[in-house]
Order: sequence, then structure tokens, then C-alpha cells
Amino acid sequence: MQTQWEEQFEGDARRAVQAVIDLDSNERECPACGTRFAAGPTKCPSCKLFIGG
Ligand SMILES: [Zn+2]
Repeated sequence: MQTQWEEQFEGDARRAVQAVIDLDSNERECPACGTRFAAGPTKCPSCKLFIGG
């Protein structure tokens, strides 16, 4: 049972890591206003916050 739980946890963690990588490569989310925009511009198109490269 413990092994099963660990496998489940590892699967969730791996998915979370992939989500972060995917977000970083394709999409950015402004930490200030939550607007999502394609990676490329380093400023939020909504509130102009500098996100950084
Ligand atoms: Zn913003």
C-alpha cells in the first residue's frame, strides 16, 4: 500500500514539474494580475509588469 502511494505521489509530482516546464516554454502568467500570454514579450501586456527573460 505504501509503495502504491509513493508511485501515485511521484506521478503527481512529475506532472507538476512538466506543467511548470510547459508554462515556462510556451506561456507566462503575470504574478501581479494573472494574465497569461505567450512567451516572448518580457512585459505583461495587461499591467506592463516586467516579467524578465
Ligand atoms: Zn500583469
